[in-house]
Amino acid sequence: MKLGRFEIHALSDGTFALDGGQMFGVVPKVLWEKKLRADERNRIRLGLTCLLVRTDRHAVLIETGIGEKFDTRHAEIYNIQHSSRLPDDLSRHGLSVHDIDIVINTHLHFDHCGWNTRVDGTRIVPTFPRARYFVQRAEWEHAMHPTERDRASYLEEWFAPAESQTELVEGACEIVPGIRVELVPGHNRNLQCVWIESEGERACFVSDLVPTHVHIPLAWIMAFDLYPMDTLASKKRLLPQLAEEHTLMVFPHDADVPWGRLNNVEGKLAFQPVTTT
Ligand SMILES: [Zn+2]
Repeated sequence: MKLGRFEIHALSDGTFALDGGQMFGVVPKVLWEKKLRADERNRIRLGLTCLLVRTDRHAVLIETGIGEKFDTRHAEIYNIQHSSRLPDDLSRHGLSVHDIDIVINTHLHFDHCGWNTRVDGTRIVPTFPRARYFVQRAEWEHAMHPTERDRASYLEEWFAPAESQTELVEGACEIVPGIRVELVPGHNRNLQCVWIESEGERACFVSDLVPTHVHIPLAWIMAFDLYPMDTLASKKRLLPQLAEEHTLMVFPHDADVPWGRLNNVEGKLAFQPVTTT
């Protein structure tokens, strides 16, 4: 899909599954199960969308999926299905891991940086040998020393072996012309979303602020979020802006609808999926 002079593609690293209760926080199952069906273990199927952006000079990858480093026990707990693998999906778009020169992680939970590294014999090495990886400095520091509440979400081997290629940024900044990051705290302290803009057209990878299109209503906030009231404030700030500027929203975990737009219909935000071929 074209975005001004850029090309953007929603790539997939397959699907995984998380407990439906964890995904919807204070929203009762009688409401959320009308939107997403749970399996016999109460898990709902989630996408692993990564966004490829091709500018005139850069091949930028936003998020790297869940990767292939889980043992069989965890692959089963999370029901990881590699119906699509990120490196294969890249090659379907005519690129190899060598062509990516910028990787941006919105945060370092295992389902967002899985392919930052890969297994090479007995070693774990960066998957994208030529890339610079961009992460918030405070997120990196937190990921190296998580708390008891969120340590299951961080796996050092997923990101630390690419440290020499990693650039730690602080707060809002431009990564390359037309691509910038901005903090949207709530899911954790330093979650960042990624704005892509070319010739007046905009897209925003909203990351876990709004993991699927079902999470657009303000109170539909994940139980995982460390600071749910900050998630609420970030949504109240960001969503009207996305609607007003007619921005393409890209979700990290929507297994069916990777992107779409918000419209302001008589003061209410209405979501419109965008279909591409
Ligand atoms: Zn996530």
